[in-house]
Amino acid sequence: MPGVHDFAIAGLGAVGSATAAELVRRGHSVIGFDRYRPPHTMGSAHSDTRMIREAWYHGSPYVPLVRDAHARWRQLERTSGRTLLRTTGALMMGPEGGRVFAGGPLREAIRPGTGDVALAPADVAERFPWLRPETGTVTIYEPGAAVLSLEACLEATLETAAGADLRFDEAVIEWSAAGSGVRIRTERAEYRARRLAIAAGAWTPQLVPELGLPLEVERTVQYWFEPAGLHALALAEGPAWVWELEREGTWYGFPPTARGLKAGMHFQAGRGTDVEQVDREVGASETEALRRLFDRYAPAVAGALAHASVCLYTNTPDEDFILDRHPDHREAVIFAGGSGHAFKFLPVLGAMMADLLTDEAPGQDVSLFSLDRFRADAA
Ligand SMILES: Cc1cc2nc3c(=O)[nH]c(=O)nc-3n(C[C@H](O)[C@H](O)[C@H](O)COP(=O)(O)OP(=O)(O)OC[C@H]3O[C@@H](n4cnc5c(N)ncnc54)[C@H](O)[C@@H]3O)c2cc1C
Repeated sequence: MPGVHDFAIAGLGAVGSATAAELVRRGHSVIGFDRYRPPHTMGSAHSDTRMIREAWYHGSPYVPLVRDAHARWRQLERTSGRTLLRTTGALMMGPEGGRVFAGGPLREAIRPGTGDVALAPADVAERFPWLRPETGTVTIYEPGAAVLSLEACLEATLETAAGADLRFDEAVIEWSAAGSGVRIRTERAEYRARRLAIAAGAWTPQLVPELGLPLEVERTVQYWFEPAGLHALALAEGPAWVWELEREGTWYGFPPTARGLKAGMHFQAGRGTDVEQVDREVGASETEALRRLFDRYAPAVAGALAHASVCLYTNTPDEDFILDRHPDHREAVIFAGGSGHAFKFLPVLGAMMADLLTDEAPGQDVSLFSLDRFRADAA
């Protein structure tokens, strides 16, 4: 059996790689495993871009986390010498009484001092003439929102973790408490570590089946269209948008990159699937549904379909993450339930994981992510 490391990590996708980077930065010996070779297209962290925006969270404990994460991404940009994010601004749009605005944080965003701007439909059409909001659509424009280059972010994070022993294409099969540490069995060998981070995304329940985590894996599709029409150049400047529609659900769009104009549907209730049975094909009727949204709400900007790719959300019932110690084995720390919004927080989530693993006083409040909220037997 290879030597004992301070920390082992099961899953080196978004949160696992950030955890590895932070532990290495703090001078610890780390071994990490991934069933594939990130960045790969089988989990939740692939496909070009992710938004980092604050307005969505106003009035909630996420705001200091977004700000901290934004600063840490900029810091990683400086140390890695890579371009990781681009300020494009973002629009949050929806009907007055809808899910996005009704009594939620976006109400707070309109308050003075946030830097955000409320726009009437006519203002939206004037400033961003490719968008056609209906009467009654409320819009918050957040000029400081940015788009993260996902693969560059993951590569820079993994480079920071280069001092770790990172083992790709080697899945963790099971783990158990052993003495004062943990034993980890992978497809290839057995390993020992003092502590274990479990960050296996949509597969996490397989590594802690005894917890019965209330997670739903949702298949979702990202599409890239050739930018077209009069506004193709302006579109690239931004903003990104997240737009709740009364009938069709919530959709989003990104300023085009070299891969094209990316768009897709956000959260579609009742679409839970088995992570081992995900349909990776994208049907023509799915693409047509998205094209109908463009035709109606952003006509003439989406040209030919360039590419489509299936991605996974792993949702908790309240859409807040799980980041906590295993209730019966304190040597294991779990991240799960990214719920379609964890990527922007990675450098902060990596630090939170490292704090719990090393028993350091948390730099941030982690109570929001406690497992107890789902455990009937918790005191
Ligand atoms: C379409 C889409 C759009 C999104 N947009 C945004 C956005 O704009 N902004 C934002 O902040 N977030 C966004 N997200 C959410 C964000 O990407 C996810 O929350 C985040 O990637 C989750 O990270 P994770 O580490 O939990 O999972 P992953 O990144 O999937 O990592 C899990 C890793 O564990 C590995 N693994 C699994 N089982 C094992 C095992 N047994 N042994 C070893 N390794 C294993 C997997 O191979 C994988 O690499 C979006 C997600 C999707 C799908």
